[in-house]
Amino acid sequence: MAEKGVLLDKKTCCLICLDLLKDPVTVSCGHSYCNNCINSHWDKEDRNKIYSCPQCRQTFTPRPVLVKNTMLADLVEERSDKSNNILNSTKLWIIQSVSVTAQ
Ligand SMILES: [Zn+2]
Ligand SMILES: [Zn+2]
Repeated sequence: MAEKGVLLDKKTCCLICLDLLKDPVTVSCGHSYCNNCINSHWDKEDRNKIYSCPQCRQTFTPRPVLVKNTMLADLVEERSDKSNNILNSTKLWIIQSVSVTAQ
């Protein structure tokens, strides 16, 4: 984790393990986590039968079925072989356009 504070980092990092997303999945509130991280988080909440988003605290019942976020997966993949700055700004642009269309 060399450079921090880039918008891209927020989008491609998992707030549970604070690392790059692995097998990113998106919860219905719109937040994304590693498949493993969110599942172990929800395993802990399993006894209450209420599943929450660690970021916005929105709760879900029953336990949501997680779908892999292929767009984020591609971004993370590209980011992990961080080739150059031009590529990074292109990705930033992609993320911004995507978040606009997602509204
Ligand atoms: Zn994670
Ligand atoms: Zn959320």
